[in-house]
Amino acid sequence: MKIMVAIKRVVDYAVKIRVKSDKSGVETTNVKMSMNPFCEIALEEALKLKESGFGSEVIAVSMGPVQCVDTLRTGLAMGADRAIHVDTPPTLNPLSVAKILKALVHLENPGLLILGKQAIDDDCNQTGQMVAGLLNWPQGTFASKVVLDKEKKVATVDREVDGGLETLCLDLPAVITTDLRLNQPRYATLPNIMKAKSKPIKKMTPQELNVELRSDMEVIQVTEPPKRKAGVVLSSVDELIDKLKNEAHVI
Ligand code: AMP
Repeated sequence: MKIMVAIKRVVDYAVKIRVKSDKSGVETTNVKMSMNPFCEIALEEALKLKESGFGSEVIAVSMGPVQCVDTLRTGLAMGADRAIHVDTPPTLNPLSVAKILKALVHLENPGLLILGKQAIDDDCNQTGQMVAGLLNWPQGTFASKVVLDKEKKVATVDREVDGGLETLCLDLPAVITTDLRLNQPRYATLPNIMKAKSKPIKKMTPQELNVELRSDMEVIQVTEPPKRKAGVVLSSVDELIDKLKNEAHVI
């Protein structure tokens, strides 16, 4: 069974985000970019499933400009077998990504499509759900545990929901999106980084996949959140209660 993993290239989580001066978006020039942390978890899970005998091949896919190839190389160094880069403009809405993923699924026929639950740049949390809808596949979102049964061709997925854990049984093929506690992604070792250089990355266009990219949404403007005021040290509980009552008006 092939396992496909969607990997997004985003501004590194440790970078302090700056908004462009024309408020058209977030500054990405000369900014460190990395694999979306939830996509690292998705890839780690695919690799673990393959290592425990449930997968024949792990295919990493990414959509975006040519620099996505660097992120895919990281995925190959972590252990993916091959990669597909679909060359698109830098900003894509989740529906466009989902349509491309659907076309890639039809091309490769994986038994499992694993995505991050959310990209930390747009915080959409939509792509996994949309692609599952487009494919008419069952979905296990926010997975914190995944167990596959090869014989019965089902995946049992624990999901973190308000108030506890929900356990779902999904018929394969299925879509899974990964939550933070699913696993601890591995680092790419130097020998694996060297090996990854000879692993194949196929380049495709949306046209080759018969996907028309259409944006039905426009970003009006991006602004920074208001600056937080500095904190103050109070001398007594009475002073705190007074401030909560008379300044913050919360009690
Ligand atoms: P989102 O719905 O934008 O929060 O993204 C959720 C997940 O969809 C990400 O963690 C990725 O697994 C996948 N995804 C979104 N955009 C892309 C992209 N441009 N290339 C590859 N995967 C993507």
